[in-house]
Amino acid sequence: MGTIIDGKKISGIIKEELEQEVAEIKKDLGITPGLAVILVGENPASMSYVKSKRVTCKKLGIYAKDYNLDVDVSEQKLIEIIKELNSDTAIDGILVQLPLPKHIDEARILMAIDPKKDVDGFHPENIGRMITGMETFYPCTPYGIIKLLEYCDIKTEGKHVCIVGRSNIVGKPLANLLLQKSAFGNATVTVCHSRTPDIATYTRQADIIIAAVGKARMITADMVKDGVVVIDVGVNRVEDATRKRGYRLVGDVDFQHVKEKASFITPVPGGVGPMTITMLMYNTIASAKRRTRKR
Ligand code: NAP
Repeated sequence: MGTIIDGKKISGIIKEELEQEVAEIKKDLGITPGLAVILVGENPASMSYVKSKRVTCKKLGIYAKDYNLDVDVSEQKLIEIIKELNSDTAIDGILVQLPLPKHIDEARILMAIDPKKDVDGFHPENIGRMITGMETFYPCTPYGIIKLLEYCDIKTEGKHVCIVGRSNIVGKPLANLLLQKSAFGNATVTVCHSRTPDIATYTRQADIIIAAVGKARMITADMVKDGVVVIDVGVNRVEDATRKRGYRLVGDVDFQHVKEKASFITPVPGGVGPMTITMLMYNTIASAKRRTRKR
């Protein structure tokens, strides 16, 4: 059986380091890192993510400016708030929790955020900077995956990494990071998606598989080779009558069987998930340190 990558533990170690860094920034630079967290509406998953982000800010000593906007807030009003935050000197990062209600154009909102405060790393300018290897904010989930690999000393250089899923927030940025000429890159990357025929042809050749699809237990043991490293990004609800809430969370990987062939594997929950918020904090602190340089 493979080693189970404990994302909760690794994120805890990183958060301890970050807490110390915030204390040093306050002492040495005389500033407090600040993150604006904007929630629109009452989507239960979004509310839960935002709550965790705010709690983590508090724990690390980061100033969190909270906005809970009505579901029918206008796009113009949201843009006005973002513009105010762009020029608010106490704010280093602006996070707009996605998805947004249908009447708001997400692309226009992401474009309104000052790229220097775009700690989610979704602004097209920052994506361009990432692809060309310039200093920027890396999107939090892909960056968290890179950190997990680093902590487990899993090298990507010369490896075949197969990513299943090509979303703008996970698959595409992750493929680009792994292609970079850098310590965490230099991989040969295959990206599969819903139009890829016979995905198993690709996953069976992979040294590292990263599943970001949103389909419960889609990657099965017959689709992977012995010794593979498996990173499971998926979060899916499956019915479970033994649980009070009637469901439990599982990943995109058939963990029970795949773990027998893998050398390393992340669980769901407790794998990639805790790393995402941690890297948001990491990016906010990095932005605060840049505050003392000319923005
Ligand atoms: P998404 O935007 O829905 O993208 C899913 C991707 O999977 C798409 O590229 C889609 O292909 C592909 N796909 C769908 N069905 C497929 C199939 N049968 N075979 C092969 N590819 C298929 O999802 P996402 O936002 O990237 O999220 C993916 C999963 O990760 C979700 O479960 C989400 O909840 C989870 N997630 C977790 C975290 C975390 O922090 N733990 C963060 C983000 C996301 P097409 O492009 O062709 O449609």
